[in-house]
This record gives sequence, structure tokens and C-alpha cells, in this order.
Amino acid sequence: MPANRPAIPRELDRRVRVEAGHRCAIPHCRMPVLVIAHIRPWATVKRHEFENLVALCPNCHTLFDRGDIDRKSMLHYKGRLSPFSPYALAEHPDHIDLLAAYQKFRVFIDMWLDAARAFSAAKQQGAGADEGRRVFRTTGDAAMKASHARLYLAAESPPPVAKAADQIMNAAVWSACTTMGMPVPAEFLHLKPATDDLPALWADLEHEIHEVLNAPARKKVKLMPQRPHYVDELDEGQRQRFA
Ligand SMILES: [Zn+2]
Repeated sequence: MPANRPAIPRELDRRVRVEAGHRCAIPHCRMPVLVIAHIRPWATVKRHEFENLVALCPNCHTLFDRGDIDRKSMLHYKGRLSPFSPYALAEHPDHIDLLAAYQKFRVFIDMWLDAARAFSAAKQQGAGADEGRRVFRTTGDAAMKASHARLYLAAESPPPVAKAADQIMNAAVWSACTTMGMPVPAEFLHLKPATDDLPALWADLEHEIHEVLNAPARKKVKLMPQRPHYVDELDEGQRQRFA
């Protein structure tokens, strides 16, 4: 590492590792020993930015340095890591519903907070009552859709995912109300999030989703036909049915 190159900030380093599920970003490698690499070289960009960083194992890092894996391929592999990427759906057919629910949740939370900012801007610019009502309705619609998406996400996922999604929901309620200059609804008053750092909360949720995606596939349990305990008493023909 060049002497004048600052270390990657801890939070950014964590985000990059979480993005890759703490495994090498090269599909079919997925080694759990990691270094963080710059996709466009540090010498050119002289900045640590999430979009330009990728988690690799030392072997794949060497292959990348030598050009055996070129930059275009690396950008492609980085793109595959995003739970927004269609690859994520294709690579995890067992979790399509969970990933789709996550994507929906993310889109509607973003829409909601955008609408809250638009409402605040309209108010500051002294927009007419009609315009105010229209923007206010937009925030309500987006909030409702985000809330439905959260329920759907909770239905498709184990408790840690649902819990992380709740944190985002609560942070969004508090953020939207603060932005719009409105009181926080009574049912959310005792749910003030520990942090209003939404990128960190999304990173937590993505971490939990990666845990689900990377969990070993559950053993398929053969339910029918059951092998009865008296199978040894059956004749050969009957026994075949339970083989
Ligand atoms: Zn690797």
C-alpha cells in the first residue's frame, strides 16, 4: 500500500464485505478470506468509494492484478452482488420472493422519503393548497406501499430480516415526519430508531438477507410415502413400494 494512501474507513470496509456476504465476489470462488480491491485503480481515482470497491480473496485479487480477470468482468461481478440485480434473482431461485419483497420495500421507502422532501419543498415555496394536498397524498400513498412491502418482506423471511426491516420502517417514519414538520404518530413514539443513518440500516438488512442467501440449502425431507415400521413383515412386492 502506498505510504500516502489512507486506510479504507471501517464502515465502508464493512459495507463492501457485507455486500459480498463476506465471501469473494467472484461467483464459484466465494472464498471467505478477503481483501478489498479498487476496481478502477487507486492510482487513478485516489478515493475510496463504495461503487469502486469489491471484496476478493487473495487468489482472485492476484488474478485481477495480473489482468487475468479484466476490469469489465470485475464491474460485471460487482453488479451481480446487488440484491437489486436480476442476477440475484436468477442465482437464488429459492429466495425469489424474499428478494422481490426486499426490492419492493427499498423502492417504496425511497419513494416515500422523496415525497416527504418534495412536500417540505412545496411548503417552503408557498405552494397553493391544491398542490400541497397533492404532494401530501403522494407521501401517504408511498408510506402505505412501503408498509405493505414491509409486511410482505416479513412474511417471506426469518425474524432477523423482519427485525432489520422494522428498524428501517421506524427510521423512515421518524425521518418523513421530521422532514414534513409533522408529529410522529403515537404508535411509533416508543419505536424511535437507535440511529437515523439509513445507509447503515440498509446495510444491516442486506447483511441479514445475505445470511439467508448463503445459508446451506435445507435437506429435503421425503414425506410420502412413509416407510411403515412393519415394513419388514411385508412381502417382496409390497416392500418395493417403500424402496
Ligand atoms: Zn476468489
